[in-house]
Amino acid sequence: MQTNFTIAALADPAMRESEKILRTCVHCGFCTATCPTYLLLGDELDSPRGRIYLIKDMLEGGKPASEEVVKHVDRCLSCLSCMTTCPSGVHYMHLVDHARAYIDHTYTRSAPDRFMRALLARILPYPQRFRAALFAALLAKPARPLVGALPFVGKRMAAMLALAPARAPAPPPVERLAIATPQRARVAILEGCAQPALAPSINAAARRLFARLGVAVVPAPGEGCCGALVHHMGREEDALAFARANVDAWTRLIENGGLDAIVITASGCGTTIKDYGYMLRADAAYAQKAARVSALAKDVTEFLSTLDLAPAPPAGLTLAYHSACSMQHGQKITDLPKNLLRNAGFAVKDVPESHICCGSAGTYNIMQSELAGRLRDRKLGNIARLKVDAVAAGNIGCIAQLSSGAGAPPVVHTVELLDWAYGGPRPEALPKN
Ligand code: SF4
Ligand code: SF4
Repeated sequence: MQTNFTIAALADPAMRESEKILRTCVHCGFCTATCPTYLLLGDELDSPRGRIYLIKDMLEGGKPASEEVVKHVDRCLSCLSCMTTCPSGVHYMHLVDHARAYIDHTYTRSAPDRFMRALLARILPYPQRFRAALFAALLAKPARPLVGALPFVGKRMAAMLALAPARAPAPPPVERLAIATPQRARVAILEGCAQPALAPSINAAARRLFARLGVAVVPAPGEGCCGALVHHMGREEDALAFARANVDAWTRLIENGGLDAIVITASGCGTTIKDYGYMLRADAAYAQKAARVSALAKDVTEFLSTLDLAPAPPAGLTLAYHSACSMQHGQKITDLPKNLLRNAGFAVKDVPESHICCGSAGTYNIMQSELAGRLRDRKLGNIARLKVDAVAAGNIGCIAQLSSGAGAPPVVHTVELLDWAYGGPRPEALPKN
């Protein structure tokens, strides 16, 4: 694609990077076929190619974002399906991240929009606040129809309530885990922000499984939200602050005893942490440390695949494997989780249209609840055809999104199923035998 940036504009390294990305696009349009929003809306401007044109026009002209650009960029899920499809290697993720930050700096949103975005940015990334908000949501859940009727923000508040689980998740029992010998590795596990409040059982399962496999988990004081939630809202400085705090926390461990991996049990966070090296490339104090952290970041299934787990007897359970977009498109992890589950004794089926997003996408299911609901129902319809006992997934956002749909089967994290197969407790979400 030809571009016409001024020399002055290209003095900005972020602009130079975007120009490079724009030049790799050859307008072929292959990406439109796998874009969920194009699939739903049929509008070229809601396709990757259309958005690329809009972003090019906005950045090239150095103009403030227009209402039209904001509308179509906001509708993008950042699912990255277009990156998997694109034959020219267009790095849409870095382009749309830049566009969102540019929009944040140049566009004044409506007051209700600003309110909702500020609310989400001030609550979701902080585990204590998230827990308090979850508790409030549980109390308010029965009043969802009334909340939905509130002017301006009612629809989005109601979408938030719909995502809250029906009851507060029980904290996992405090376990004294004996690490099997010989010790095979020393790792940190990302605790993050939303997952410990919504499903503390996920990391508890990873810790149990690791202990049995001889993997020591060391705590990383100071670690927190990966920054993805605010990053996708265009709040670049907030996202970089979260990234720096995590890089500091893990660097202390790397330089005091070493780490074999930074294990992540939420693929949405994994995609962002693997990008820290890029996000902090212009920060002389952090660039190298961030690149080292990114290189150590591993999805839990990637890490487990290096440990040669023994085959387990059939578990008598048939699963649909839901591959989160951040897993398959963001990190290109496709077969590993399914292979681990099959080796652990589960029958695993692929979901038709597995490349299409379930509508979760960070805060998308709150901010764009109508489109997100349509994508969720489409995904659940595809899952229903498989007639399975449960769904396995590796991202808390997808688990919450799919579980919020009517008639959804139990949705369980892959690592909880693996822990169960190798001697741990039966996952809570599964019906009792
Ligand atoms: S598939 Fe790639 S090169 Fe083709 S239009 Fe889409 S982004 Fe551009
Ligand atoms: S990231 Fe997903 S929603 Fe956004 S343009 Fe690409 S395929 Fe479409």
